[in-house]
Amino acid sequence: MYTPGIKSDVLVIFLKRGKLGKSPSDSLMNLLALFAALAALEGTCAVLYENAADLASLNVQFDFIVVGGGTGGLVVANRLTENPNYSVLVLEAGGSNTDILNIIVPFYCTRATPDTPQDWNFSTTAQVGLNGRSIAYPRGHVLGGSSSVNSMVYTRGSKDDYDRYARVSGDDGWSWDRLVPYMRKTEHFQPPKTQNTTEQFNPAVHSFTGVNDVSLPGFPRDTDARVFATTSVLSDEFPFNIDMNSGNPLGIGWIQSSINLSDASRSSSATSYLAPQHIARPNLHVVLNTLVTRILRSGSNSRTGKPTFQTVEYTSSTRGSARFRVTATKEVILSAGSIGTPAYPNAFRDWRFRKFDIAWNSTGPQPSFCRPELD
Ligand SMILES: Cc1cc2nc3c(=O)[nH]c(=O)nc-3n(C[C@H](O)[C@H](O)[C@H](O)COP(=O)(O)OP(=O)(O)OC[C@H]3O[C@@H](n4cnc5c(N)ncnc54)[C@H](O)[C@@H]3O)c2cc1C
Repeated sequence: MYTPGIKSDVLVIFLKRGKLGKSPSDSLMNLLALFAALAALEGTCAVLYENAADLASLNVQFDFIVVGGGTGGLVVANRLTENPNYSVLVLEAGGSNTDILNIIVPFYCTRATPDTPQDWNFSTTAQVGLNGRSIAYPRGHVLGGSSSVNSMVYTRGSKDDYDRYARVSGDDGWSWDRLVPYMRKTEHFQPPKTQNTTEQFNPAVHSFTGVNDVSLPGFPRDTDARVFATTSVLSDEFPFNIDMNSGNPLGIGWIQSSINLSDASRSSSATSYLAPQHIARPNLHVVLNTLVTRILRSGSNSRTGKPTFQTVEYTSSTRGSARFRVTATKEVILSAGSIGTPAYPNAFRDWRFRKFDIAWNSTGPQPSFCRPELD
C-alpha cells in the first residue's frame, strides 16, 4: 500500500503514541486516524512514523538517509526533498515536538532541559575548572533537536570567524560573503508591529522571505533604557550595535530570537523546515523514537576503492529492542549533533578517527545514560 517515490499511492498516517488505547477518546482518535489514512489514499502525503518497527516492516530503499532529525538534519532533508526525484528518510532518536508547552512557549525554554524526556541528559565528567564538579550538558532529544529546546537567540556569528574558516580550510565557500546568501535563505524576519523598531535592527542585513522565523522583543521592559544608557555613558567599552547579525557582533543591541510572532511560539527546524507544506512531500519520510546504533560499511567505491558507508543499523529508542538495517542508494548524512555524530555511529567513528590517527577522547561529555524510556 505504501510505496515511497510513487506519488499516487503514498499513504500518510500521523501515528500517535497510545493510539491503540481502549478509552472512548482513544477510540475516537483511532477512527480519526483511519479516516485520515483513507483520505490520504486519495491524494499525496508523506509519512511521519512514531516507531522503528513501522519502517522495518516496509522493506523499502531511500536515496538519502539523514541520521538525526535535529537542527541541521531537517534543513538537509527539506532541501534534498525539494527535488521530487529524491526520496529521503530521517531517523530521529527523540519523539515529536508538538503539544509540549515547555518547547512551544519561549519563556519556558529553561524548563525544556535538563532532565526531561526531550533532553539526552548528558553530563560531563568531573571538570577540573569546576572544582571537580560534573554538570549537565543539554542536547535536544526530540524532533528539531537542540533547536527545539535551545534559548532561541538568533546569532549568525562573526564575519572574522567565517573568513578564518575559509583561510584555514582553503575553501572560500566558508567565507562570510559566500555564506550570507544561505543565512538569508533560512531567515524570515518579522519585526513586531507593536512598537517602532527603526533603531532596533538593520533591515539591509535580513531576509523577510526565508523559512525560520526571527523576531525582536515584542514588549518594552523597565531595564531597557538603563541598559542602553550605558552605550552613551560608556560608549568606548559598550558601543551601541544596531544589529549583532551584520557580521560584527560586538556591542550592545536588541536581541533577535527564533520566535514566530503570529502566535509568539518557538520557531525550530521542526516547526519551520518540517512545516505542514514540507512534511506533505511524498518523498520525505521521518521516523521518530528511532536510535541509529551503527553506520555499516556497505562496500567500496568502484572508482576510488575507498570504503562506502550507506547502510544504517537502527533500533527503537526503547532499550533491548530489535535492530534493523536500511540502505541508502546514494548517501547517509550524519547530523546527530556535535556529540551524537562522533559518539554513536560506531563503525563510522572508528574508521574516521583511525584514519586521522585520533584516539576517541573519553574525557569529554559522557552519556550518563538517563536516556528516557519511552514505554
Ligand atoms: C539548552 C541549549 C540552549 C542553546 N541556546 C542557543 C541559543 O540561544 N542560540 C544559538 O544560536 N544556539 C543555542 N544552542 C545551540 C544550538 O541549539 C545548537 O548548536 C544546534 O541546535 C545544534 O544543531 P545540530 O543539528 O548540530 O544538532 P541537534 O539540533 O542537537 O540535532 C541532533 C539530532 O540528532 C538526534 N540524534 C543524536 N544521536 C542520534 C542517534 N544515534 N540516532 C538518531 N538520532 C540521533 C538528536 O536527538 C537530535 O535531534 C543551545 C543549545 C542548547 C542545548
